[in-house]
Amino acid sequence: MWVYHMELHIRDVRTYVLEGWNIMKKQSIATLMILAVFFSCAACTQKSRSDYPVKPVPFTDVHFSDDFWLPRMEINRKVTIPYTLEQCEETGRIKNFEIAAGMAEGGFCSAYPFDDSDVYKIIEGASYSLKVHPDPDLGKYLDELIAKIGAAQEDDGYLYTARTIYPEPPKVRWVDTEERWDNMYLGHELYNVGHMYEAAVAHFQATGKRTFLDIAIKNADLIESVFGPGKKTGVPGHQEIEIGLVKLYRVTGESKYLDLAKFFLDERGHPHGRELYGEYSQDHMPVTEQTEPVGHAVRAAYMYSGMADVAALTGEAAYRKALEILWNNVISKKMYLTGGIGSRSGGESFGEDYELPNATAYCETCAAIAHAFWNHRMFLLSGDAKYLDVLERVLYNGILSGIALTGDLFFYPNPLESHGQHERSPWFTCACCPSNVTRFVPSVPGYVYATQGDDLFVNLFVHSEANIQTDSQTVEIKQETAYPWEGSVKITVSPEKSKTFALAIRIPGWTRNQPVPSGLYRYMDSSGQKAAISVNGKPYDYTLEKGFARIRRKWKREDTVDIFLPLSVRRVLSHKKVEENAGKVALERGPIVYCAEWVDNYGFVSNLVLYDTAQLWPEKREDLLNGVVVLNGEVTALKYAEDRVTEINAEQKFTAIPYYAWAHRGKGEMAVWIPRDKSNIHSESCRNSQ
Ligand SMILES: [Zn+2]
Repeated sequence: MWVYHMELHIRDVRTYVLEGWNIMKKQSIATLMILAVFFSCAACTQKSRSDYPVKPVPFTDVHFSDDFWLPRMEINRKVTIPYTLEQCEETGRIKNFEIAAGMAEGGFCSAYPFDDSDVYKIIEGASYSLKVHPDPDLGKYLDELIAKIGAAQEDDGYLYTARTIYPEPPKVRWVDTEERWDNMYLGHELYNVGHMYEAAVAHFQATGKRTFLDIAIKNADLIESVFGPGKKTGVPGHQEIEIGLVKLYRVTGESKYLDLAKFFLDERGHPHGRELYGEYSQDHMPVTEQTEPVGHAVRAAYMYSGMADVAALTGEAAYRKALEILWNNVISKKMYLTGGIGSRSGGESFGEDYELPNATAYCETCAAIAHAFWNHRMFLLSGDAKYLDVLERVLYNGILSGIALTGDLFFYPNPLESHGQHERSPWFTCACCPSNVTRFVPSVPGYVYATQGDDLFVNLFVHSEANIQTDSQTVEIKQETAYPWEGSVKITVSPEKSKTFALAIRIPGWTRNQPVPSGLYRYMDSSGQKAAISVNGKPYDYTLEKGFARIRRKWKREDTVDIFLPLSVRRVLSHKKVEENAGKVALERGPIVYCAEWVDNYGFVSNLVLYDTAQLWPEKREDLLNGVVVLNGEVTALKYAEDRVTEINAEQKFTAIPYYAWAHRGKGEMAVWIPRDKSNIHSESCRNSQ
């Protein structure tokens, strides 16, 4: 009876605490029983709450064995995690915790009060890695680090090393007094702990240890006692705590954390005795009235992600309505072809509509990651693949360019054009991007699948195996593919028992002549090739529902689905209002955006003209950049003749490489957007304006 009761609760829990349960189910029976009681309370307190109608399949249930992502995840585990932790040691980020704890002497010894957050983000990534690849040394290191963090926490739960250390010199920027919460605009007090909550939840789910989670709960309880209706008002200048609070709510079932997340969102744009921060922090008007993406792009996309979480859990329709308007505006007017957002370095912000410069594109790596978070959540809210089209675009392009193939060099801005001044850096004084990409890479398997009831979504294509828990059973699913370099995907579906359900396979927008779900970019030519599906060897005539081919049938073990995604080289044109791209073309193949780099094109890129009629063909180059498909062709280069005065047009070989792989072979010119033959541009712009 007790066991039955426990199982019932576990079912409820799984609905609400997906990730937690997937960790829990692999724990020992004894631990499971303890946690079941813990989570049963969580489920009871949450039973009136709604949630995302589509459930993500946790990354722990999806095992990559491919040549594209797995090597990156291995480099993240073997190089990036130890390297970024080492950087945190060397730059004083970890010493700050020791000093705040009284374990060491001195003043705050790194540059910014938000430096605590880098340590948290790396713990989050290290926890994800630990979960799928046990590493006793890393686990021990994290235990010791978490002990330091706990020691730095003040008795009432406050945790922010910059102020705990204050007033020891040197004082920290934006930490002006001993008073807590005195600079909510720039101090990052609440931003830091948002990352701490995310890290603490990840660590708990990875290890089953409550050490970090208890630190986070103690802190969140303090903040909840200070802020809220009838208490202190105000909002964090940099959003992030909202996401963290929701994660804390999911794992504890304490609705006060969800309520606090909603409070911080709802307070934005309302003065309530304070001066509004303005557009920079999306505090210029209430979030439900915001229609234009403005200000700091990372703050914005974290806020939108938090709003999606709260909308899912509370059914807040006004949030969702605002999010859809904001998303449409980003996708139609403010997104780079790489999926990057935030075009201006000034304020690390969105620009005006269609303000998408290439050489000065900011496109912060963190903004790309935040954009992925947001789009994933929009998919979970709606079941619509258009959000996954954007997610895939930013995943393969805007995010991956932020980290070198070696795993220890990083871009903060990710420009789409270079005159040779760019190279990845080993670290930054403001190190948000390296720590963010460190936590993101190991989580990628969590974006591949989702479920809704007994139905199963295939969002992304990666050679992998997964055990997916639907509402009624476990389904083993295997993908065999060389994606993104090849477009054939074989899926083997093995449900525990034969059952009717829908396998919803995303048919990417790029196979349907739609590079993005807006008019911001379009393919120059329409492709007649269509994605094809066969089930157990027989062609399957699918219709699209929200971008998915839904194959509803009685599935049995070892059923196979063969998917053919036409991977041709596509020329992309911009909306005419993107002045920077007027008369230029970009190249794509599948989800990969290409660029021309100096080293493959006789030393220069800025002198190239790519005729619309020039043939382009793919070539797999195992020897290049850890194995890539390049695009080859012929291009016209504007050059001087031997007299160094006469300008000539010279035909020469042309090679484009995946954008994410640029800047690995020295500094030089690079461009995503390449000038076209001028004779074609007039007719194209006329067509565009019709
Ligand atoms: Zn960043």
